[in-house]
Amino acid sequence: MRLFSTKNTTSFVSLQEAVFKGLPDDNGLFMPEAIPQLPDSFIQNLKDYSFQEIGFEICKQLFNGAIPEADLRAIIENSINFPAPVVRLNDGTYILELFHGPSLAFKDFGARFMAQLMSYFNRGNERELVILVATSGDTGGAVAAGFYKTPGIKVVILYPSGKVSHLQEKQLTTLGENVSAIEVDGTFDDCQALVKQAFLDKDLTSQIRLSSANSINIARLIPQSFYYFEAYKQLPADGKPVVFCVPSGNFGNLTAGIFAKKMGLPIHQFIAATNANDVVPAYLGTGEYTPRPSVPTLSNAMDVGNPSNFARMLNLYGSTWNNMKEDIKGYAFNDLQTEEAMRQVFQKYGYVIDPHGAVGILALEQYQSKKPGTTRGVVLETAHPSKFLPDVERVLGQKIEVPERLAILASKEKHSVKMGTGFSPFKSWLMDNF
Ligand SMILES: *Cc1c(COP(=O)(O)O)cnc(C)c1O
Repeated sequence: MRLFSTKNTTSFVSLQEAVFKGLPDDNGLFMPEAIPQLPDSFIQNLKDYSFQEIGFEICKQLFNGAIPEADLRAIIENSINFPAPVVRLNDGTYILELFHGPSLAFKDFGARFMAQLMSYFNRGNERELVILVATSGDTGGAVAAGFYKTPGIKVVILYPSGKVSHLQEKQLTTLGENVSAIEVDGTFDDCQALVKQAFLDKDLTSQIRLSSANSINIARLIPQSFYYFEAYKQLPADGKPVVFCVPSGNFGNLTAGIFAKKMGLPIHQFIAATNANDVVPAYLGTGEYTPRPSVPTLSNAMDVGNPSNFARMLNLYGSTWNNMKEDIKGYAFNDLQTEEAMRQVFQKYGYVIDPHGAVGILALEQYQSKKPGTTRGVVLETAHPSKFLPDVERVLGQKIEVPERLAILASKEKHSVKMGTGFSPFKSWLMDNF
């Protein structure tokens, strides 16, 4: 398997290089040279394959020998080790629950798979690998859990003190073992600046093997294509075309869905659902791409003003607006509409949906209202509602259930290393600890 940069489609790197580098030198994004069509027999007999077997078949074709089959099986068994069930609301509306992993959001799939791939490519290396991650709260928990106890790899998470939710902080600071949390007295940008400076510091990089776990790493996208197949497999075979509705921020999930369609999964339509940060729906409507600063919303994991995966989407559609707008319909909704949808879903179906999934429900309803009863719609439920407990309980006017793995966090003790925004204390800490 080879990968190119969206900014230079004629030079290639190996999967190993793409996974360790994260970003190409030219600041584009890595893309697989080819996305293979999977055999018809596989697509037609999906029901005979477990979720893990689906992941294995996809990787076998995509990686094309880059990882021996036995190792690949182990990587998938260690990362895709929780389910992605489909729940029926009505004959046209299904929810794909992607929150059954340790951090209760879909990002667990990508983070765990990336951790396993890095650990595999790092095997036999005597020197440990130190992964630096700056987080604004959202992805840090998934990455920390993904790398937890991975042999040969240490993880250092930097987060802005007082600027992540209590729960997010617990997810970052209570694991211990190979995961350290640095609590920076500053902003997310300060955390990012420290990480960047570390990579540029020759002293440091000559003594410690550093790597990053960037959210745009191709290793995070690949496993996200698995669950489109897994969802399709679970739908009742009534023959109606299948549409996937994807609540989106950086558009990684939707991009992975396009991968699945290219591999041969019969997806009739994608629906890009956003909150007020609607640059992509606006682009689909007008052909004009106008990035702008993000605005805060209730569905805050989708508050993105310049989605990083847009370059990948363009590449997949040959940089042609016409092709993209045929395949993807875009809709945007405000917070009032989102809250109303959360209440509606609860009243009609007794189902508690989180604010991100609620944006998806709204978009699917709008899409289906044009031709009622003609499609099977699957909404990706990207996080468990208890991750947004105060908002969900306020909107629904009642207490909701908190899963055990979240509830026990409250009783765990926080361990963090407090630091300012200056580089030298951070550097000394790294030198002393690794
Ligand atoms: C990250 C995230 C999103 C956005 O996903 P993208 O792949 O960046 O579009 C949506 N919902 C939740 C809960 C998230 O954590």
